[in-house]
Amino acid sequence: MKDVSAFLDRLTRPAELVETLGDDRARCLACGHRCVISAGKRGVCQVRFHNGKSLRAPWGYVAALQADPIEKKPFAHILPGATALTFGMLGCDFKCGYCQNWLTSQALRNPASSVSVNLVREVTPDELVQTAQRLGAQVIVSSYNEPLITSEWAVEVFKTARQNGLKCAFVSNGNATPEALAYLRPHLDAYKVDLKSMRQENYRHLGGALKHVLATIEQAHALGLWVEVVTLVVPGFNDSNEELWDAARFLAGVSPDIPWHVTAFHPDYQMTDRDFTPPESLVRAAEIGREAGLHYVYAGNLPGRVGEYEDTHCSGCGRALVRRRQYQVREYHLDEKGCCPTCSLRLPGIWSSDPRHVRLNQHGLPRLA
Ligand code: SF4
Repeated sequence: MKDVSAFLDRLTRPAELVETLGDDRARCLACGHRCVISAGKRGVCQVRFHNGKSLRAPWGYVAALQADPIEKKPFAHILPGATALTFGMLGCDFKCGYCQNWLTSQALRNPASSVSVNLVREVTPDELVQTAQRLGAQVIVSSYNEPLITSEWAVEVFKTARQNGLKCAFVSNGNATPEALAYLRPHLDAYKVDLKSMRQENYRHLGGALKHVLATIEQAHALGLWVEVVTLVVPGFNDSNEELWDAARFLAGVSPDIPWHVTAFHPDYQMTDRDFTPPESLVRAAEIGREAGLHYVYAGNLPGRVGEYEDTHCSGCGRALVRRRQYQVREYHLDEKGCCPTCSLRLPGIWSSDPRHVRLNQHGLPRLA
């Protein structure tokens, strides 16, 4: 691990999300842990550290880079059919036992993930944006590891991306701070939050705090970011009716227009002691979301087995406006203003101004970039 950290420490810059405390100490403001870090020490995420002069933040590389369908993020109300160039770095502030990206997210925290350092490629924002343009991407996304802990680099990439007409998004665990959200806001269009549970006890096991995630959803929405929320429905962990109702009521209280994605778990990493989420559980969760008053509820990861919950329906007249199968858009009926052609309701979200060119029936698979 020492070699890995020495290698990664080189790829850093002085952090901007920081409060200097004197006595060679700094408080990191990038995530809800708010680590106070002394000279020579590291934060909980391990990738931010104090070198005796300043707090350092990861910079200038990607460890994963892929052209994904935007539906894979998942975002349902941003440019359906678009390609999202998605980059990730290394490290996380959580330690979820079912993490699907643990090889990159748990770098420096789990020795088994140290091979992830071989994935590191040094890049510039210009190179990433040129890659996005070459692949026809309309959106660039920071994901795979927790983007909050690498916010400074994401902002640097997003500045160039926005100058070139790309939308910018975060796929995050939501363990943000008000300072991080304010720092990101000028450079970000959309924020996807994983709401992993409505129980603090569960969040304690994952290494986070429920109150920070709920606050992030409220604050990101209040700041005018486009927010979508995902709950991975894990059998025996967060799939009781009571907990799903709590999540749905909370979101509906923030805004009934926040799309809620309930997605299927599969055994991964350290959580192999339970079965896949059955389609009945996802449909039950989606029905709870609708009953709680949410206008847009989606069920993911079980294509063709969750009925209408892969599609976007007009919340005014009920017409199916976007039909999907997994990551593939099959029909698109919104007009150039994002309105329903039947009842004229404008759907919340970011929609194509050129609906005739929305890409339908693509292969719906990620491509390596
Ligand atoms: S990003 Fe979070 S975990 Fe990492 S040093 Fe900052 S406050 Fe601590």
